[in-house]
Amino acid sequence: MNVIEVAGLRKSYGDLEAVRGIDLSITKGEIFSLLGPNGAGKTTTVEILEGFRTRNAGEVKVLGFDPATQGHASREWRNRIGIVLQSTSDAGDLTVYETISHFAGYYSNPRNADEVIQAVGLEEKSKELIRSLSGGQRRRLDVALGIVGNPELLFLDEPTTGFDPEARRAFWSLINNLRNDGTTILLTTHYLDEAEALADRVAVINHGQIIEVSTPDHLGGRSSSMATVTWRENGELKSIETQNPTALVSSMSPQFAGEIPELSITRPSLEDIYLKMIGHANE
Ligand code: ATP
Repeated sequence: MNVIEVAGLRKSYGDLEAVRGIDLSITKGEIFSLLGPNGAGKTTTVEILEGFRTRNAGEVKVLGFDPATQGHASREWRNRIGIVLQSTSDAGDLTVYETISHFAGYYSNPRNADEVIQAVGLEEKSKELIRSLSGGQRRRLDVALGIVGNPELLFLDEPTTGFDPEARRAFWSLINNLRNDGTTILLTTHYLDEAEALADRVAVINHGQIIEVSTPDHLGGRSSSMATVTWRENGELKSIETQNPTALVSSMSPQFAGEIPELSITRPSLEDIYLKMIGHANE
C-alpha cells in the first residue's frame, strides 16, 4: 500500500513555479528522503502533503485521502500523522513535560510522555520551562511533539538542525526504532550523511522537479562509480581512479617493503554525487 501518492503536482506563487510536476510514491514503512538545495520546492511539496498549502494541479493522496479536502476537516486523518515543521516551536511558560503531555491529549492513541522525553534525550530538562531550553533542545522538543501521537506517517522537515553530533546520532537511533515499529517517514534534510544513514530511498529535487529517485547507494550511478586509490611514493602523493582497486593495490604491493605509505581507497560520498547532480542540473 502506498502511504503517499503524488502525480503531476504543481504549485506557483505568482509567476514563480515552485513545484513543476512532481510524481512520488512512498510505501508503508519506508523512510523516504527529499534532498535539494534551498528553494528547490521541498517544503512547498511537503506542506501540500500535510494539508497546509493549496496546489495548482496534480493528484495527491496521503493515507488514502486528499489533504486539500481532508487536511483540516478530518481529525481522524490528522490523528494518524505526526509533523515536525522547519521552524521551531514558540517559547512558552510550560515545562517540557507539561507541553508534551498537553499535546498527547490531542491524540487518540498517544505515546507515554516520559517515554517520549527519554526518546529525545530531554530527561534532565523535563521540569524546565520551554523558554529556558537551548536551540538544539528546543528542536528535540519539536521532534517529541511530532512523535507523541504515535503517528503512522511522520513528516520531518530538517529535524536535526542545531543538534550537536551526539544528539544527531541519538536521533538517528530514535528514527530507526520508529522504522522498526512500521512508521512511514518523509524526511527533508540538508545533511547527506543523515539521508544516507536513514533513508531507504531518496529523491533529489531541483527547481521544482525531481531529478532522480533511488537508494542512497545507487543514486547518480554511485554504486558503479570509480574508486580512487591514493598513496605516497618518493615523497609525492599519487592517486589513480579505477574500477578494480583490489587488483591495483595487489599489483603495487610487491614494490613496497611492507605497508604502502598513506594508502587509502575512497568512493564518492552521497554528498559528492548529490553536488554533482545539482551542479549539472544548474549548468
Ligand atoms: P529550503 O531548503 O530553503 O527550505 P525548499 O526546497 O523547502 O527550500 P520552498 O520553501 O518550497 O523550498 O520554496 C520553493 C520556492 O518557492 C522558493 O523560490 C521560495 O522563495 C518560493 N516560496 C515558498 N513559499 C512561498 C510563499 N509563501 N510565497 C511566495 N514564494 C514562496
